[in-house]
Amino acid sequence: MKRYSAFAIAREAVRHHIGWERAWRSPEPKATYDVVIVGAGGHGLATAYYLAKNHGIRRVAVLEKGWLGGGNTGRNTTIIRSNYLQDESAAIFEKSRGLYETLSQDLNYNIMFSPRGVLMLAQTEPELRAWQRTAHANRLAGIESEMVTPDRIKQIVPIINVTGPRYPVLGGLWQARGGTARHDAVAWGYARAASDLGVDIIQQCEVTGIKRDGAAVTGVETTKGMISCKKLCIVVAGSSGVLAEMVGFRLPVESVALQALVSEPIKPCMDCVVMANTVHGYMSQSDKGELVIGGGADGFNNYTQRGSFQHIEETVRALIETFPMISRLKMLRQWGGIVDMTGDRSPIISSTPVKNVFINCGWGTGGFKAIPGSGWATAEMVADGAPRALASSFSLDRFREGRMIDESVAAAVAH
Ligand SMILES: Cc1cc2nc3c(=O)[nH]c(=O)nc-3n(C[C@H](O)[C@H](O)[C@H](O)COP(=O)(O)OP(=O)(O)OC[C@H]3O[C@@H](n4cnc5c(N)ncnc54)[C@H](O)[C@@H]3O)c2cc1C
Repeated sequence: MKRYSAFAIAREAVRHHIGWERAWRSPEPKATYDVVIVGAGGHGLATAYYLAKNHGIRRVAVLEKGWLGGGNTGRNTTIIRSNYLQDESAAIFEKSRGLYETLSQDLNYNIMFSPRGVLMLAQTEPELRAWQRTAHANRLAGIESEMVTPDRIKQIVPIINVTGPRYPVLGGLWQARGGTARHDAVAWGYARAASDLGVDIIQQCEVTGIKRDGAAVTGVETTKGMISCKKLCIVVAGSSGVLAEMVGFRLPVESVALQALVSEPIKPCMDCVVMANTVHGYMSQSDKGELVIGGGADGFNNYTQRGSFQHIEETVRALIETFPMISRLKMLRQWGGIVDMTGDRSPIISSTPVKNVFINCGWGTGGFKAIPGSGWATAEMVADGAPRALASSFSLDRFREGRMIDESVAAAVAH
């Protein structure tokens, strides 16, 4: 892989850009691999990259039924933060946030990480108490976050209305080192770096069946033929239940659509991320000037990747009280993604009832921020055959043993 650098740009500029290489290889699948990863979203690609980089396991294929990054990884609102309530979550999300800080250098790919600050508004008394509790928990876990007053909020976000009649802003939880990154670039950067280390990324290759020999899986049936593997890792977000059923076990996961929209581009007016959980809305401004607006998840299970008018109306109506200036903006486009929700709103990184099958799912509405840490921890689990400290609490057993990691306050809608 030729490195990207200022010198490379200058070199290509003088020779009419004839020297740029394809960012990743597009090989035909081999007959057999040490590890097959299903799903080329951020989590699958990061797992492949860290398997190759940290554990030297390079006979790896990532199989993707569409195009890489075309699932939730390319559909989210890119909020990155680590101020979760429970210790286990704080650990993996903070690991992830830390990796994001230097990911562009690590991957030699500009993922446009922008630690612009994330503000989570408290608009009811219970929410204020919940954020105060989270701020204390964060301090104990060594995570930088702080409570801020309405006056300070007005300084951070001048366009906000803190005295709305229905939902006045009572305070907020502020994580100055949180922010955003370019979602496609995260997928593309991991794909390029993994491909360079020998990982085969095979797009337009849907897994349609699983081949089992007694207690173990021996391979996957795909639209490009049969592929054998020693280990199988399923990382397919909203399709996790479908894949688990193919293998022969059930998951405590529900699939629902989560939606977002962007406005027409406008001049810079907001340089941080604001999340308003009470009204189910969150907003940031992209580098192109669009206001990126996310809403709540559908209240019923489904596998659709489209938006719906009533959700857009609900989200925008609620946000207008807090940001009156957006009432005059036109919507540019809307979309949806299929998110995988667990009962405790925490992910699953786990071995499964089938001995050489591993699963990473359940990130629900908030897994973009977790991609580096999750890939790191999943690679450890696949390499060793069992999760290490970062992921061990997120096993499937917790649902049977009642060992929930309850993040419903921190993550129900909050990304
Ligand atoms: C509207 C919206 C807003 C969001 N906002 C945020 C946010 O601000 N911050 C945040 O942290 N998170 C956010 N999220 C959540 C985040 O996007 C996801 O948790 C994360 O992207 C999941 O990544 P993934 O790699 O697990 O899944 P995906 O990116 O969905 O990748 C899974 C891949 O598996 C493939 N696949 C499925 N079935 C098969 C098969 N049979 N064979 C082969 N391939 C298959 C799919 O095509 C897909 O590409 C949001 C999600 C949505 C939808």
